[in-house]
Amino acid sequence: MNYVYVAFKVRKKALREAIEGVRALNMRGVNVTIPHKISVLSFLDWLDENAEKIGAVNTIVVDEGVLRGYNTDGVGGLKALVEEGVNVEGMKVVLLGAGGAARALAYTFAPLASEIVILNRTVRKALSLASELEREGWNARGGGLSESVLGRELRDADLLVNATSVGMHPNVEESPVPSNLLRSDMAVFDIVYNPVETRLLRDARRVGAKTVDGVGMLVNQGAIAFKLWTGVEPPRDVMREAVVKALHGGRSK
Ligand code: NAP
Repeated sequence: MNYVYVAFKVRKKALREAIEGVRALNMRGVNVTIPHKISVLSFLDWLDENAEKIGAVNTIVVDEGVLRGYNTDGVGGLKALVEEGVNVEGMKVVLLGAGGAARALAYTFAPLASEIVILNRTVRKALSLASELEREGWNARGGGLSESVLGRELRDADLLVNATSVGMHPNVEESPVPSNLLRSDMAVFDIVYNPVETRLLRDARRVGAKTVDGVGMLVNQGAIAFKLWTGVEPPRDVMREAVVKALHGGRSK
């Protein structure tokens, strides 16, 4: 295929020019990552409904000079769970975090789950995301990340999702959840992919819980973007292999 995928470091102040460059150079599209996922919205011509609600874009497609914004994180996360045999439908989901990735997952999981509880260090952001979801007609609540709230909410949770950056390299010994609150009959999904097995996943594996690492979501969100640009379904197993290799031979299922 006549494409190349390359990385550009874009300064915050130069984002407008960078995006105009994407149009001017007639690129097929780009991925957008931290810290530009939210600020890029104002430079686009069209937003996918999902990206508009989430308020963040990770994929831009250029169609005859028209810049279209999408967010593939949520669906990528859901696909990763499905691939591991975890069906969110009817589950009580406890989602940790209220940043860009958490918002994408919240909008994807909330319509399927029986209830979704958003817990975040900055409580205001959790409450505000939960109210948005409620306004859509979904069963959602928000709260803080304290041990007592975690204990109460995790007692009957079916799926715990970590969408905070806690446990990410270099703070690999940190976990957002004390290990005594994890149970064997819950599934634990950590979207952090560096390291592949985070402290949270290690603790969850030790109590016998079903665990899903962040590599599947990373691969799937990328695969969906690839299809948006090229119309071609990429080989996900090849992508996964390349990701795991790049993450220094980290352990992954
Ligand atoms: P973000 O928008 O900056 O959000 C970060 C979130 O983490 C916020 O909820 C923040 O809480 C919380 N947080 C950060 N440090 C914390 C701490 N010490 N204690 C408690 N909470 C803390 O970032 P993001 O884009 O959502 O990314 C979050 C993580 O997901 C990153 O590790 C990223 O690599 C990973 N990610 C993975 C994939 C994948 O494909 N697997 C995709 C996207 C992101 P406050 O609101 O209180 O600051």
